[in-house]
Amino acid sequence: MLPRRLLHLSEWLFLTLGLVGCSPGSSPVGKVDPPPVLASPFQGEFRVTNVSDHEYPFQFQDNNGYLFSWWGEKLPGVDGHQGYDFPMPEGTPLLAAYDGEVTFAGWENPFYCPPLDKTVSGLGVVLRHRLPNGEVFLSIYAHMSEVHVKTGNLVRTGQVLGLSGNTGCSTGPHLHFEMRRLRGTAWPVFDPYGWEGEGEDP
Ligand SMILES: [Zn+2]
Repeated sequence: MLPRRLLHLSEWLFLTLGLVGCSPGSSPVGKVDPPPVLASPFQGEFRVTNVSDHEYPFQFQDNNGYLFSWWGEKLPGVDGHQGYDFPMPEGTPLLAAYDGEVTFAGWENPFYCPPLDKTVSGLGVVLRHRLPNGEVFLSIYAHMSEVHVKTGNLVRTGQVLGLSGNTGCSTGPHLHFEMRRLRGTAWPVFDPYGWEGEGEDP
């Protein structure tokens, strides 16, 4: 089963779209519902294949060979994955998961993509959100084929941000959906599902 948990958010700020590399096809996990505070970033149902890795969530650096899910299970998939992958046809409208401001819209800086063994740049959007209690967080939409918003735009929950695609460090059409927050001077990935496993969140 896939438990649900309220968003637990602390300090958040901005970042630019960074290393996002993933593969859409490796390990079907199943259907996930958006966390209660967030709306789904798409209409309809697309099953998640790679969840956010709680154990060493560092793309291209984690070599332990598995994803550690928010419910504490080791899964195959993109090791160190930073976010959620939803395989979907190219051209699927992508929707703002919450009211926010566009802090990035366009092509990310080129970087080396190990799975493709070449330098790539993906098209994506970053939204900055503020909850009624003042907490701020980011949502990131990656591998898009078209972007329909501009930096500085204010968007509402459910507004179309653009279309899904297969740009950047991606081996097949999918949405990479990621959340971030500030911890000290770092910007760790934030899993909106939190932690439901036994013991401490690694
Ligand atoms: Zn991904």
